[in-house]
Amino acid sequence: MPDLEWMLRGACRDSDPALFHHPDGERGQARAERIAQAQTICASCPAFDDCAEYVEATRDKYGTWAGEGELERAERWAMEDKGVAPRSRRHGHLVSPTGAYSVIAAWRASGRPIKDLATAAGLDAITIYSLTSAPSRWIRAGTAEAIEAVGVREMVP
Ligand code: SF4
Repeated sequence: MPDLEWMLRGACRDSDPALFHHPDGERGQARAERIAQAQTICASCPAFDDCAEYVEATRDKYGTWAGEGELERAERWAMEDKGVAPRSRRHGHLVSPTGAYSVIAAWRASGRPIKDLATAAGLDAITIYSLTSAPSRWIRAGTAEAIEAVGVREMVP
């Protein structure tokens, strides 16, 4: 079960949920204004990075997450799926998760709790759980480096 504690820290918890999900038939200016309001809330959200990583891992198609509307996100994912390098966003450069996944798989195979891997990597447990529950094509470079460093430090004989 993923640790979704970061959602409790999300600034949107105290906001109108309608700002983050479009009503039926919404178009043009109304949509742009609603998303701009949501983006303003996201911009100062203490859970921004966790939110960005979560939506990358879960590929949630609906709503505004980490300051990105669903159409923008769909366009970005379409580019990524065509092999176009992902844009840098506020949460930083994105990289292939292959090395990090190898470390996670080896950690699991060793019987050690995934929470301990998160601790060793200095990451929130949601980061590891979200990666394992819904594999992503890209993850933040800093996350990949932290997980891979644990592999080098603790798992290479
Ligand atoms: S970044 Fe935006 S959508 Fe994500 S938790 Fe924060 S306020 Fe909510």
